[in-house]
Amino acid sequence: MRYDEPLFRPPSEADSFILQATLGCSWNACTYCRMYRGKRYRERPLEEVLADITEAGARFAEEVRHVFVADGDPLGMALGHWEPILRALATAFPRLRRVSTYATARNLLEKSPEELKRLRELGLSLLFLGPESGDDVTLHRIAKGASAADHVEAARKARAAGMEQSLIFLLGAGGRERSEEHARTSGRLATAMDPRFLSTLTLTVVPDTPLARLEEQGRFELPDVPGLLRELRWFLEEAQPSAAIFRSNHASNYLPIGGRLPRDREAILAAIDEALAGRVRLRPEWARGL
Ligand code: SF4
Repeated sequence: MRYDEPLFRPPSEADSFILQATLGCSWNACTYCRMYRGKRYRERPLEEVLADITEAGARFAEEVRHVFVADGDPLGMALGHWEPILRALATAFPRLRRVSTYATARNLLEKSPEELKRLRELGLSLLFLGPESGDDVTLHRIAKGASAADHVEAARKARAAGMEQSLIFLLGAGGRERSEEHARTSGRLATAMDPRFLSTLTLTVVPDTPLARLEEQGRFELPDVPGLLRELRWFLEEAQPSAAIFRSNHASNYLPIGGRLPRDREAILAAIDEALAGRVRLRPEWARGL
């Protein structure tokens, strides 16, 4: 298998076979992200990707249950690329239960309902989407490339095709200035998109990004830790998915908590209140990661 570094995958895909079908991110413009800066977006040649699948199948045929297709937004690949890949995965791994990938709202909006349905039939069942915010002002400032309404429509198309979504929102993305609007509208967007999995990460200002330059110029300020905990509370006050597993256990977060929504909402809110009152040990700065 050939891997072109850097290679990223969601934490929940730690035990999956990672198939790198594209390199980089076709959007590559979000102001806080340096994941693929300097890496030109391209689809890997199909024969190379199929050769990787054949090789992995020869070695791990009976072990692989989950496959994650990388890099940044492979859903943007044409159907003619996806179809042979998904067929080859099903042949190589007889026990395959789930194929997932990163996607953007733009990828979903560009695909027709028939194309999405076909991808689902061939096995693509879970999309990791990072709206990051439900606040259009924030979405514009971070150059996400899609509005809250775009994300709602993208989610509707995914659900109609039978695909599950895992959504990620980014605490702090609105800065101090739009903290509450960002958090509350993010919760409302989570309600409207109605994912199966929902998580929050905490924004880290990464050096050499457009956001870092704004911070240097005094035009962006990250909320302090209590401010970020309040954002988490506002977010969860508004987020009403029909049945979702919620997690904030990513290494970037100060308070790792989780549960099922709506069932555990009150318990989670109570845990946040305990943390806001200083009665819970937060993850120390040295133990945090991106
Ligand atoms: S879509 Fe994802 S990978 Fe691409 S620039 Fe934005 S955050 Fe980075």
